[in-house]
Amino acid sequence: MHSAEHLLNGTMVKMFGCERSFSAHINKKKTKCDYHFQRPLEDEEIRSLEEKINGVIKQDLPVIIEVMDRKSAEKLFSLKRLPEVVGDDIRVVKMGDYDAVPCIGDHVGFTGQIGQFNITTTSFEDGILRIRFKLKSI
Ligand SMILES: [Zn+2]
Repeated sequence: MHSAEHLLNGTMVKMFGCERSFSAHINKKKTKCDYHFQRPLEDEEIRSLEEKINGVIKQDLPVIIEVMDRKSAEKLFSLKRLPEVVGDDIRVVKMGDYDAVPCIGDHVGFTGQIGQFNITTTSFEDGILRIRFKLKSI
C-alpha cells in the first residue's frame, strides 16, 4: 500500500503538476490520499491515472534506496514531511527512474509486488482532492 502511494504521488505530480499528497491514511484494505487541487477529477483522468500506475507496476521496476546528505537532498526534494529525528543522512526511495522521494518507510523490492492498482472513488471539497484506492494481488 505504501509503495503504491509513492507511485500515485509521482503520477499525480507528472500528470497534473500538483504536489504530492499532504495527508495519507493507509489501511490494509484501502488507502486514501489527499491533494491540494483545483477541481474534481474526470472519469477519463481517473482511468488514465490507473493505467499509468499499473503500467509502472507491470514494468516490475526495482525499488532502490539511496542515501544522500541533507544539503544535497534539500536541493532536490522538499523534506517537510520527514520526521525531525531524521539526521543528516537522507534516505531517498526510487522506483526505477520513475519516481524518487525521501522516505523512511518500508517498501516492496520491485514494483511488480504491489499488485493491481484500482481507484475506488475520488471526491473534491474545499480545494482538497481525495483519492481512495485498493490493491489486488496478481
Ligand atoms: Zn515510502
